[in-house]
Amino acid sequence: MTENETKEHRSWTMSRVKSKDTAPEMVVRRLVHSLGYRYRLHGAALPGKPDLVFAGRRKVIFVHGCYWHGHDCKRGARIPATRQDYWLKKIGRNRERDAVNVSSLEQLGWDVLVVWECEMKDRVALTDQLKAFLGEPPQTA
Ligand SMILES: [Zn+2]
Repeated sequence: MTENETKEHRSWTMSRVKSKDTAPEMVVRRLVHSLGYRYRLHGAALPGKPDLVFAGRRKVIFVHGCYWHGHDCKRGARIPATRQDYWLKKIGRNRERDAVNVSSLEQLGWDVLVVWECEMKDRVALTDQLKAFLGEPPQTA
């Protein structure tokens, strides 16, 4: 954070800082749990610390904010009116880092799914996507 960043910029930034347990992540966690899957959170030992880790299935899920991770959607395309170069570079770096993390995970034999914030709107499609990625939920006896 540089000194010449205005107060406006700061509050704009702070509102978009990725924190743990963000709302979209909670949506995905609840949904996955309700479908019967079990997972661990924030796989610290794995590249990029995936939000949900399904160790037995060797699958991980990232839940990404559209803005912060530069999603190609309406929300992701929103850029503040000023200092656009700064933000575009920052988001560009996040995207590069995300891509590196995904390929590192894949090289380690993990399947990776990225769920975007904007995909929370359609829960039916989201559920289908999660089931298709994770495979059959465990049988409850
Ligand atoms: Zn999006």
